[in-house]
Amino acid sequence: MTTLESLHFNNVFRRLPPAFYTPMACSPLPDTRLLHINASVARLLGLDSSELQRSDLAAIVSGAQVWPGTEPLAMVYAGHQFGQYNPDLGDGRGLLLGQINTPSGLWDLHLKGSGRTPYSRMGDGRAVLRSSLREYLASQAMHGLGIPTSLALCLLGSPATVQRERREPAAQILRIAPSHLRFGHFEHFFYRREYQQLAQLADHVLEHYLPDLLEQAHPYDALLHEVVIRTADLMAAWQSVGFTHGVMNTDNMSLLGYTLDYGPYAFMDTYEPGLISNHSDEGGRYAFHRQASIALWNLNALAHAWSPLTQQQTLIEALQAYEPRFLSSYQRRMLNKLGLQQDHPADAVLIADLLTWMAKSSVDYPCFFRALCAFDGTSPWAYRDELIDPSGWDTWSQHYLLRLKQETRSTPERQQQMRACNPKFVLRNYLAQRAIEAAERGDMRETDTLIHLLTQPFDEHPDHDDYAAPPPEWGRHLNISCSS
Ligand code: AMP
Ligand code: MG
Repeated sequence: MTTLESLHFNNVFRRLPPAFYTPMACSPLPDTRLLHINASVARLLGLDSSELQRSDLAAIVSGAQVWPGTEPLAMVYAGHQFGQYNPDLGDGRGLLLGQINTPSGLWDLHLKGSGRTPYSRMGDGRAVLRSSLREYLASQAMHGLGIPTSLALCLLGSPATVQRERREPAAQILRIAPSHLRFGHFEHFFYRREYQQLAQLADHVLEHYLPDLLEQAHPYDALLHEVVIRTADLMAAWQSVGFTHGVMNTDNMSLLGYTLDYGPYAFMDTYEPGLISNHSDEGGRYAFHRQASIALWNLNALAHAWSPLTQQQTLIEALQAYEPRFLSSYQRRMLNKLGLQQDHPADAVLIADLLTWMAKSSVDYPCFFRALCAFDGTSPWAYRDELIDPSGWDTWSQHYLLRLKQETRSTPERQQQMRACNPKFVLRNYLAQRAIEAAERGDMRETDTLIHLLTQPFDEHPDHDDYAAPPPEWGRHLNISCSS
């Protein structure tokens, strides 16, 4: 039986020299209490189910009570924010409590909203309930979709409030991820010309996360190549599910290809390529249709920081691997959504034509693909009646039908596979907003329902059809700001 105390702590980041972090104690909020705990995350960590019921859980996790094995620290990093280099970043409102070995691998335990650190700049070191809950839900949604991401074990509340545009309740989440290393960790040492630490960081990543690459002739080159490939795959995954990250700064880019730092993100409702999920991103730098190329821009910044570790030609070749990998990875995901198993030369055009029509006709992205799972070309397709422009659909679906005929699988088999990759339940902004408003009133039932649905988003859950619906009028284009 594994308890919080008997987790197998193995704080490998803390074994790095002091240049990598500042040791810090958590400053707990008053009367911290547990608002929600994610049982599937607890299972992932191997925690005994009785741990979920502990009355002292919030006190332990928040640092109000000693948690044996933890050695909290604030990581130092830098990053390019909206294209500008900022040397002064780091964990400004979160602490890496420690790392644990579990049957599912090595996990970071990171408490977000834990108080001021040397990297807080002008901030208060706190997080509000609104943004903490958005992160809590989104990370489970992403994990449920099978996309690499941080997760959160629990959400903690407190009577304390903090000032944002209004006074808001403060909260904390205990976030877990295989690693919280960011592109910005490497940029920090590069711009300070601390090349020995730069190499030490790369060695750390290789030793603890990618030991197989140490067998290669040039492990640093192999590591950069791996980061490029993982980033391309992550972008393909985000694009295929209609996810847009609102703040794709290099300090929010995971080195190992996980989704990190959910702020003003969106899972698309209507298919809208130019969607900007961050109200403060006036220029649309991080609009949905720019994310794949912004990731390459960010990789370029990383490659620059990598230059003391390798030859220039290697950097160029690593970056050149991005585009073909992104395109093939994205195409494979989209073909899976369409139920197409074979590869065909005209498939890229088929996908592009579909997306062009969807954008023009304001088609709901998740609903369309879920409904498409029931399309067979012979019986009437109910979703056609919901379309604003059925003539566009009629044209495209003729090509699609021809293409389906080139497949070898039976229709029921294809439909089953499509239902396993076109989710019925997606964390639309309006659903998150409803859960936030309820949570601010002290009612966690919406959160509970959403966590349940998002853990198995491909299942039917027939009692919850309303959670699969497009947003009501008030829930379209909610303004999600950066302040969190
Ligand atoms: P973000 O874009 O939210 O990932 O944050 C960018 C940087 O600002 C990171 O170094 C954060 O730790 C820091 N930060 C954001 N909000 C706060 C806050 N309320 N207090 C202190 N630091 C913060
Ligand atoms: Mg961040």
